[in-house]
Amino acid sequence: MAELDYDVLVIGGGPAGATAARSLARAGVRTVLVEKTRFPRFHIGESFLPRHFTLLRELGLEQTVRALPHVPKFGAEFAMGDASVYCRFMFDTALIPGGLTINIERSVFDDMLLREARAAGAEVHENTSVRKILQLDEGKVRVLTQDGTEISAGCLLDASGHGTLVGRHLGTRRTADEPHLQRIAYFEHFEGVLRLPGREAGHPAIVMCDEGWFWVIPLNETRTSVGLVLDHRVAKSLDVPADRMLAWGLSKSPEMRRRMAHASGPETNHVLADFSYRCRPYAGPGYFLIGDAAAFMDPIFSTGVCLAMMSATTAVEKVLAMRQGKLSPARARREYIRFVEGSTSIFFKIIRQYYSHSFRELFLNGVGPWQIHRAVLAVLAGHVFPRPAFRLRWRLALFSLCVRLNRFLPLVPRRKRFSLLHRDSSPEVLHSPTAAQPAIVE
Ligand code: FAD
Repeated sequence: MAELDYDVLVIGGGPAGATAARSLARAGVRTVLVEKTRFPRFHIGESFLPRHFTLLRELGLEQTVRALPHVPKFGAEFAMGDASVYCRFMFDTALIPGGLTINIERSVFDDMLLREARAAGAEVHENTSVRKILQLDEGKVRVLTQDGTEISAGCLLDASGHGTLVGRHLGTRRTADEPHLQRIAYFEHFEGVLRLPGREAGHPAIVMCDEGWFWVIPLNETRTSVGLVLDHRVAKSLDVPADRMLAWGLSKSPEMRRRMAHASGPETNHVLADFSYRCRPYAGPGYFLIGDAAAFMDPIFSTGVCLAMMSATTAVEKVLAMRQGKLSPARARREYIRFVEGSTSIFFKIIRQYYSHSFRELFLNGVGPWQIHRAVLAVLAGHVFPRPAFRLRWRLALFSLCVRLNRFLPLVPRRKRFSLLHRDSSPEVLHSPTAAQPAIVE
């Protein structure tokens, strides 16, 4: 057999690909990473989970990350779009402690990670797109880049994000069949968005409406990421250009108008559609799918970058164990697939529930019996790897039961629904004095 160019080929230089390439190179594995764009590049996904910050620490990256412009994040805030109800919580009140994390501009964070991969010894080629997969076999993979170069390696880690290169090649990419998960995101960066004082200043806010939700994520001292995630059927039914949809949504929500009253930024917005899918199986002969290249469901709980770097770290462990003869390829794949299924399924379950009004009523209530709310917080902080602890699982199961019961039998105060389509959007509501006092979860 002709000699392979590299031991491992990584496609994509986002958090999943860069983390994998860095760890492989540090372990002495001949690694090449090819990235379609040139970094730094804009990317959405700017709020991290506490468990993710712990991973950055475990990877020896904490000080490097702290040196970048960022905003410390100790908790989060949920609110109704009509400003009728708020709920704020701190992660250090979760059932599993570990409270700090950050929000950060992805261009800055991803660039740092890719430089780390290069410094560790990985060969990194930016502006290089993989056009075609030529061979995908145990021990040998070959791809063709856009300039006609062929690259061969013993194993492929697909970290191509929403490009899902291997998923499309094998025809395994399945978009979410639940219509309510088929959503479109509209987003931009703004200056001068209203913030909370003190330790709550870094709280990302989720502002809810029947048709979806807004996010407000402080990124550095002045800049804030603002986005709207809409049901695709609603988006298609509106006579609003896609690049103006964020401005339209902001004008319809009193709560968002209050936050944006002194904000400045572009009138147009970025658009991202069709972002809920899975590519099963997550590993096969010659390949592992990591990060968004494996699966992506909904960004409501800011899980993406944590899952991307966790799956990358686990895939690297399996590749190294295979190379050292400690695991057969079939066993390594089984274990990796079990890891991805085990750690993501709880998020997928809770995301599905989030879109029911009953879930929102319970969630906005802030507290529940038997520390259920603290278990939900622990999951939202990302303490689910390799799979959630039993004390979280049974409380989550009970919470799901409450969500079902609350539809028929009020377990918490009923909350009014808020729809972007039915509200008066007159500017007088801008500085609404009716804003409710938040429920603080401690
Ligand atoms: P990516 O970061 O997408 O990187 C993939 C890379 O592969 C890209 O750089 C791309 O250029 C490259 N590539 C693609 N095709 C090729 C090819 N053919 N050849 C070579 N290179 C290629 N996550 C959070 O943690 N917090 C959040 O608050 C959050 N909010 C989000 C909001 C929205 C609306 C969306 C859609 C996502 C959000 N996410 C969030 C998710 C997060 O953005 C992703 O989960 C994360 O970027 C995944 O990292 P990755 O490395 O797998 O993929």
